[in-house]
Amino acid sequence: MMPLRRFAIHRPADLGEAAEMLDHYGDTGTLYAGGTELLLAMRHDLLRYEHLIDIKAVAGLDRVERRDGHLYIGAGATHRTIERSAVCRELLPVMSEMEANVANVRVRATGTLGGNLCFAEPHSDPATLLLALDGTARAQGKSGERMLSMDELLAGAYENSLAQDEVLTGVDVPLPGPSQRNAYLKFQVHERPLLGLALSLELDDGGDIREARCAIGCVSPTPCRSEAAESLLAGPADSVEQRLQEAAAALADEAALTDDREGSAEYKRHLIGVLLHRAARKCLNRDG
Ligand SMILES: Cc1cc2nc3c(=O)[nH]c(=O)nc-3n(C[C@H](O)[C@H](O)[C@H](O)COP(=O)(O)OP(=O)(O)OC[C@H]3O[C@@H](n4cnc5c(N)ncnc54)[C@H](O)[C@@H]3O)c2cc1C
Repeated sequence: MMPLRRFAIHRPADLGEAAEMLDHYGDTGTLYAGGTELLLAMRHDLLRYEHLIDIKAVAGLDRVERRDGHLYIGAGATHRTIERSAVCRELLPVMSEMEANVANVRVRATGTLGGNLCFAEPHSDPATLLLALDGTARAQGKSGERMLSMDELLAGAYENSLAQDEVLTGVDVPLPGPSQRNAYLKFQVHERPLLGLALSLELDDGGDIREARCAIGCVSPTPCRSEAAESLLAGPADSVEQRLQEAAAALADEAALTDDREGSAEYKRHLIGVLLHRAARKCLNRDG
């Protein structure tokens, strides 16, 4: 690892000032939250910035709270804050459980949700879960606020679609009703997950599946859903269980799996099947 090149740290008082600074410093500046990705990439000389705009102290950016039909999670909330948030545990337990298994406690205590989503490292747990839960990102720039779906925010591997002057301020996640069942499962051998799978099922009174949303992550540049898989995952619960392998194949096709250091495309295809079966059993309460 190389020593860090010299840079200046700026502490904006609020989001407006952060947006001004981003605009002012252009390509020579970037936002800095927990620094768990940014400083590492700078130490390896993969990224070079002269100006880091530290948004950790911007008031309210780390809030986790209930807001009209949503759970709002501030971009500055650390993984640990989200994991331990009583309101998140109560309203969206799948999010707390996912966060409790991100990285190690040292990274969770420093790394933020905003940094995770904006760095757009393909092995992100929150990105996959938030895609399945239909989370909406809030971005604030000099000219105001705009909302982006997770698909819109995540533009590619290590690429987000924020404008030069925009800060991700938080994510709105629709609150699950009593008929919604959610699961997030991952498979991991090394430091980061090899596969993440999120399943969200809307059940009817008889326990059959009215609607399904399913996302897989880590095996493609950005997490993805498959329309074909989701239609196979809706219908009478018993027949959906018969179609799980077909749905897993549709997800694998959508991800356009490749062979790489983490395993062959065939191995990843197999894992998608295993995790989908487990997630479906969990959502349908088949594990007792
Ligand atoms: C050892 C290790 C293990 C890990 N394991 C996992 C894992 O199992 N699962 C997983 O999902 N992740 C994992 N991660 C990734 C981890 O979640 C991220 O490193 C962390 O969340 C990044 O947040 P940060 O605040 O440190 O971001 P920073 O490093 O501060 O910033 C990252 C990037 O995001 C930009 N940025 C930050 N905040 C904002 C914002 N509000 N608006 C716009 N841009 C912003 C910065 O400019 C920078 O480009 C791991 C990381 C490490 C180092």
